[in-house]
Amino acid sequence: DPVVAIVGRPNVGKSTIINRILGRREAVVEDKPGVTRDRVSYKAEHSGKDFTLVDTGGWEADAKGIDAQVAAQAEIAVAGADVVLLVVDAMVGITATDEAIVRMLRRSEKPIILVANKIDDLHQEPEVASLWSLGMGEPYPVSGLHGRGLADMLDALLEILPEHSQFAEPEVRGGPRRVALIGRPNVGKSSLLNKIAGEERAVVNDLAGTTRDPVDEIVHLGDKPWRFVDTAGIRRRVHMSKGADFYASLRTQTAIERAEVAVILLDVSEPISEQDVRIIQMAIDSGRAMVLAYNKWDTLDEDRRELLEREIDRDLAHVAWAPRVNISAKTGWHKDKLVPALEHSLQSWDSRIPTGRLNAFLGEIVAAHPHPVRGGKQPRILFGTQVSSRPPKFVLFTTGFLDPGYRRFITRRLRETFDFTGTPIEVSMRVRE
Ligand code: GDP
Repeated sequence: DPVVAIVGRPNVGKSTIINRILGRREAVVEDKPGVTRDRVSYKAEHSGKDFTLVDTGGWEADAKGIDAQVAAQAEIAVAGADVVLLVVDAMVGITATDEAIVRMLRRSEKPIILVANKIDDLHQEPEVASLWSLGMGEPYPVSGLHGRGLADMLDALLEILPEHSQFAEPEVRGGPRRVALIGRPNVGKSSLLNKIAGEERAVVNDLAGTTRDPVDEIVHLGDKPWRFVDTAGIRRRVHMSKGADFYASLRTQTAIERAEVAVILLDVSEPISEQDVRIIQMAIDSGRAMVLAYNKWDTLDEDRRELLEREIDRDLAHVAWAPRVNISAKTGWHKDKLVPALEHSLQSWDSRIPTGRLNAFLGEIVAAHPHPVRGGKQPRILFGTQVSSRPPKFVLFTTGFLDPGYRRFITRRLRETFDFTGTPIEVSMRVRE
């Protein structure tokens, strides 16, 4: 579902509005600041459309201005939102705190709905006019207390709410986890499938109408069923003809997208090819978990083996994070290594690092390894958050642009610390001031 963050300083009525939207009476949460607290989110609905409502806590102005922790908390929530509801108290008018929030929201570049709260009856509506000066577009007058105006405001929200969230994660379906077995022709996909599926294959097809072929197979490996996607494409030898390459590539892409994890088969009897590298890149770009399976290990002699290790170092260094299994589809050697690798990669792919743990890590690493000084400036990482999983994506808030080398360093340490074996991760930076 699309994610809507609700922000505003304390006492503007955020909790009241949240309760109204949720159709409840009780108070939701107190405004409790702190980066270490994870945001509270609620399933909400309006006009038949579902969305997730994220509470951000209030912004407390102290002697130094906005309390840094509370501001951080709100920024973190906004980073993970598709749309922001900015709530102001129309009866009080614009305060310095509201203006500080507006500056933060501008930097975030998220679409905003300006909610003018505490307009309990019609004759108070003129109060709203002054809110245009915030430069956040049309203010929607509402009364959180009585519910007045909320439907119109939510209609406006739905209009700018994206169909698919920027933070949408591949659907968590019940049933077996989905695996794509991919690789260039003749690497041994069909041999491996036959070896591991044995007689136990169950052909399923829940894509009726899209093709006459059976599409997926449920294969029991270890004590669990796994769903291998598009096994028809693996089992039926595709005749090479003009354009076959294009269709093979399209089919691989579709299989990856339907799967959660890709097993990429490589043939160790031949040099790693451009096509292998391209297929691996497809899996990375689709953000799927990954296992690299080096097949035909039975053919390997010492010379070829040495060459292979050098090819891997040269061509596959960028996927050194993917688990590697050496197998022989022909003899069945090491076929039992596949499942632990799949499970490890999926676990990394699914994982979500609590904001508190992430920031404890960032605090330590920034203290021990500060960014080098550049032109008299030393950008700092202030805090960060994981905005989604499957695969894990992070946003780090900084005081300036970080060197590519330092970014890589942080990304590498993030991988090691939280064990992201087998999943691509994305780390993006947001400069704060
Ligand atoms: P696909 O096109 O990826 O499905 O590849 P196939 O499974 O059809 O295998 C292509 C060729 O490689 C066949 O002749 C297989 O017998 C052979 N092959 C597959 N796996 C192995 C293996 O582990 N060792 C050896 N020696 N040959 C293999």
